[in-house]
This record gives sequence, structure tokens and C-alpha cells, in this order.
Amino acid sequence: MNLKVSEHKSGHLVLPGERLGVIEEFIPNSGTYVKDGVIYSKIVGRALMDLLSKRVSVYPLISGANVPKVSSTIIGQVGHAQSDNVLVRIFKLGSKNLSGVFTGVLHVSDVRERYVESMTEVCKPGDIIRAKVISNKNQVYHLSTNDKSLGVMYAFCSICASLLEPKRYEMQCPKCGNVEKRKLALDYGKEEI
Ligand SMILES: [Zn+2]
Repeated sequence: MNLKVSEHKSGHLVLPGERLGVIEEFIPNSGTYVKDGVIYSKIVGRALMDLLSKRVSVYPLISGANVPKVSSTIIGQVGHAQSDNVLVRIFKLGSKNLSGVFTGVLHVSDVRERYVESMTEVCKPGDIIRAKVISNKNQVYHLSTNDKSLGVMYAFCSICASLLEPKRYEMQCPKCGNVEKRKLALDYGKEEI
């Protein structure tokens, strides 16, 4: 990841007309405007540069609390998955929907207390998961599911996309019979999204 630290004002208070970056580097989002390829803040607020989605937004100070922080519990959808980590598109903070786009990373070492070999036994793209923010180092939300209440809330069959049902140690598809693994939240399938 290419961090041009001098350019980054993520989390900082910014003023209207303050330079946030360039369009080669970021996609301008809410609270910003572009002039001659440069992204500026439109309002007084807190800047958020999401280095994974490459979006830059400015959040008005009034709703400034509605941004994930360390120890926040979030709900998101699993996106791109690799064997040692997955990206999570965060859309809920606690019980509130978020308006901005936030991306989190769940690494295989933060799934649970004991060793987990691969993310394929934790979650798959499309699943809805509940996780905790454990750090936002380098403007990336690092997530953990290391608690009984955290993990997959809704899992979908990777063959036919039906909602999977928990069996003893595995998940089973009621439609096609496919069997998969997940790290479930205790209230799997119960919370309304
Ligand atoms: Zn299926």
C-alpha cells in the first residue's frame, strides 16, 4: 500500500477549501469537491480517507460520532477474500446505518483465540458479519471476531446462495446439501439487518 503520509489528513479537522488529495489517488465522496484534479473539503468537518475503497469524505462535526472507532462494534458484508484475510464493507455501526463507505480488514489471526488455518473456514464473500474494530492504524479499520457475540450473522451457500443452516460443527445448505464452515456469532440468523 502506497502511503503518501504527507498528504493524508485522515481523522483531522478540515476547513472548507482545504486540500485533501488528488483524483489520481482518491475518489471524492460526500463533503468534498474537485477543482483541477485536486480534492478539497466543502465543509468544516473531519476528513476520512479510506485507503482500501480509495474514497475521501468529510463528515460534518455534528454527526462526527457516526464513524467507526477503536472498540466500535460494526456490521458489514464480506467482500474480497484471501486465505489470510478478508475485506469487509462496513455499513452499520452499533445499531445505526452509516452513510459513508468504510472498509475493514479481518485477518486470520484475529478471528478467534485459537489458531485458524484459513479464512475459508471463517466466512465467504457475501456473508454478513459482526466484528469489533481493534485498530485503525494507517487509516485501515482492522477487525476482530474473537468473541462469542462476534462472527458470521448470515452465511450464504457458495454454490446456490441460499441461507445456510447451522448443524453441529458445520453449516449446511437446505437447498443443495452443500456443507461449509463458518465462525458464527452466537445469535446467527436472529438479528434483523
Ligand atoms: Zn446451496
